[in-house]
Amino acid sequence: MAATSEPSSRAPLQGGCLCGAVRFRVSEPIISAGYCHCTHCQRRTGTGSSANCRVPRSGFELLSGREQLRSYKPPTGVPKLFCSTCGSAMFSGDPFSDEEVAVRLGAFDSDPLIRPEYRQFVDSAASWEPIPEDNLERYSGSRTAGR
Ligand SMILES: [Zn+2]
Ligand SMILES: [Zn+2]
Repeated sequence: MAATSEPSSRAPLQGGCLCGAVRFRVSEPIISAGYCHCTHCQRRTGTGSSANCRVPRSGFELLSGREQLRSYKPPTGVPKLFCSTCGSAMFSGDPFSDEEVAVRLGAFDSDPLIRPEYRQFVDSAASWEPIPEDNLERYSGSRTAGR
């Protein structure tokens, strides 16, 4: 049933980085998910956009790899956390104290079931990748100020 229902304590969702050092578990339904087209996401991923989701703090647990996690805080915007061994992008903000934990959608082992429902920072979208006509809600800048 884990593949057909939202993450819960009975059917948690797991994920991790490419080398396997950083592992985490989500045991509550994911709040929201969307694409970010900001220039920070373009630089840190080397792609046109980044798919992220927000998980309630009470439903997030880091299982391993706290020592491998590194954080880069750009002059503006929130810190970006990545595995120092393999470079995988994992979280943003402070995954140990923020009310909601921002998790990169590609870090999950299996289908997180939620689907991206918006696109933010479309004003800075990469010129080489047209934004698809997918009817997702679009925001010129940040969907939620300060994140
Ligand atoms: Zn790693
Ligand atoms: Zn971004």
